Amino acid sequence: MRSKNTSQPFRHQPRKRFGQNFLHDENVIRRIVDCIAPSADDHIVEIGPGQGALTRHLLHECGTLDAIEIDRDLAAYLSRTLQQEKPFQIHQCDILKFDLATLTDQPSSLRIIGNLPYNISTPVIFHLLEKHHLIKDMTFMLQLEVVNRLAAKAGNKNYGRLGLMAQYYCEVEHLFNVPSAAFTPQPKVSSAIVRLTPHRVKPVEAIDVECLKNVIRTAFNQRRKTLRNSLKTLMSEQQLEQLQLDLSLRPERLTLSDYVSISNALSS
Ligand code: SAM
Repeated sequence: MRSKNTSQPFRHQPRKRFGQNFLHDENVIRRIVDCIAPSADDHIVEIGPGQGALTRHLLHECGTLDAIEIDRDLAAYLSRTLQQEKPFQIHQCDILKFDLATLTDQPSSLRIIGNLPYNISTPVIFHLLEKHHLIKDMTFMLQLEVVNRLAAKAGNKNYGRLGLMAQYYCEVEHLFNVPSAAFTPQPKVSSAIVRLTPHRVKPVEAIDVECLKNVIRTAFNQRRKTLRNSLKTLMSEQQLEQLQLDLSLRPERLTLSDYVSISNALSS
C-alpha cells in the first residue's frame, strides 16, 4: 500500500496479538459497505479500521466518523492519509476501555461497524451491548462460529449466553459468509457478516437485567444439568415449582422469554 502524502510505501507487519487480518477483496468490501448503506446523516463508529479498507468507502458517504484503533502505527498511517482527505476523529485506544457515551448522548444515533479482531470479539460485543441505547445498528465481520452463536435459537447446539444477551437487546441477522481468501493474512477460521439492531421496544423486558444475566450465566455454567439442579443455587424449591416450567429440561431448551420469566420471578 502506498501512503498518499509521503509517497513512501507503507509496510506493516500484521500483528497477531491485535487480530490483524486485513480485508483486500474489493467485492467483499463493496458488499459490506452496501449492507451498511451509509448516508450523510450517519454517525459511524468504526472499530479497528486497520489500513482503512472499509474506512475509505464510509468516510465520504457518512456525516461523522469516529475510528477506534489500538495499533499506534495504523492510527498514525490513517492520520497522514485518509484524515487528510476528510477530517475524522481517530481514537488511538482499546475499544474495551472506550466509552461510547463520550461521543453522543443521543439515543439510537451511532452506527457501529468493524471487521473485529477475532480474539476479543465476544468481550467487545458484551461491552457494546452495555450502551445499546446509544446504538442504531452494528455491522460486524466475525468468526462464523460467533455469528452462529449470536443467531442461535433454543434447542440449537450454539445456543448460550452470548446469543441470549444479544437477542435480548437486538435483532440478529446473519447476512453472508466471507471466504478466508478475502483477507491478508488469511484467518484459519471461517468468517461472516452479522447485523445487530437494538430493539426500540424489547419483545420481552426483564425487571432487573443484572438478575437476568445472573440467571443465564448460572444456567449455562452447567449446561448438562437440568434446570432444577442448576437453578437451585438461586431459588428455593417452592420458587422453582411456581415457575410453571418443565424443570427436567436442560438450559438450551428454554427460550429467552422463559429466562426473562425466571428472572422476573426472582426480582419481584
Ligand atoms: N478494518 C480493517 C480491515 O478490514 O482490513 C482491519 C481489521 S483487523 C481484523 C482488526 C483491527 O482491529 C486491526 O486494525 C487491529 O489493530 C484493531 N484492534 C485490535 N484490537 C483492538 C482493540 N482492543 N481496540 C481497538 N482496535 C483493535
